[in-house]
Amino acid sequence: MTVRIDMHAHFFPPITREEAAQLDAQHAPWLALDSDAETGMIMTGDRAFRPITRPLWDPLRRVEEMDRLGIDIQLMCATPVLFGYTYPAATVVDWARRLNDRALELCSAAPGRLKALAQVPLQDIELACAEASRAKASGHHGVQIGNHVGQKDLDDEGLVQFLIHCANENIPVLVHPWDMMNDGRMKKWMLPWLVAMPAETQLSILSLILSGAFERIPRSLKLCFAHGGGSFAFLLGRVDNAWRERDIVRENCPHLPSSYVDRFCVDSAVFDDGALRLLVDVMGPERVMLGSDYPFPLGEQQVGRLIADHIGLDESAKRRLLSENAQAFFDLPEIHAVAA
Ligand SMILES: [Zn+2]
Repeated sequence: MTVRIDMHAHFFPPITREEAAQLDAQHAPWLALDSDAETGMIMTGDRAFRPITRPLWDPLRRVEEMDRLGIDIQLMCATPVLFGYTYPAATVVDWARRLNDRALELCSAAPGRLKALAQVPLQDIELACAEASRAKASGHHGVQIGNHVGQKDLDDEGLVQFLIHCANENIPVLVHPWDMMNDGRMKKWMLPWLVAMPAETQLSILSLILSGAFERIPRSLKLCFAHGGGSFAFLLGRVDNAWRERDIVRENCPHLPSSYVDRFCVDSAVFDDGALRLLVDVMGPERVMLGSDYPFPLGEQQVGRLIADHIGLDESAKRRLLSENAQAFFDLPEIHAVAA
């Protein structure tokens, strides 16, 4: 059986309100667990943020679920509400260190099955680089960053320097959309998730391409965008057309935008056969990796099924998407199917 590696899954350690108050008593994220400890709520201060289930914080329950789903290895990263980018960097560096150490503790409950990506205080590039290096040395397999820090997108000079640091230190980077653009018109129906999240990721990818940042970032950077790269694959023809027709699009970008698709990867969280086919056509089968957004309700519920059951992908492509691409991306040693 093909090994399955899910490279986009989230954790949230059981942080109490008192612990969160060390970051910010009013708005910091914490977990309110229900009396049966099977369900709970992510809280931000007094506000209910998202309902959750036990695998989010319990690694043994998580592995039981992985066995049920046939997932051999999961790469877990923090739930983005934990990033803390809006707080003073000196406070958040302690927060990030503690969360990163807690992530490794969760992984140690299931050696070989759970691996972690670190978070960094991205509002301070020097501290972010230092924490990325410390985390890698302590056992993390890469970092997860939000797709922007306030008004700074990935073409910001500091963020480009962070990516260059990760390239030089062979630290894989997963870019996750968060803090979605919202001018008040997306209050209902989870529209920030359905409209703004794909647009945030598109904004990040185009910020790197059209700014010319990829001309300065080493080709060795291992970079992956969540959620299939948002709206990127579907809109790439529109971007190429704009680059050909308007000099202001070409201003900082010397090559056709589509020529940069070999500089990054995407996950497979697109939930549709036709979308996955397009994604593999645009990115190539070597640049799409199984990613589920587990254990959240908007993630792929039967993790890996979209790839495994796809009639348009041959067995070689399926192996790449299900495990081989992630194995190479995260430098995982030789692995074997272990899911019970
Ligand atoms: Zn996610």
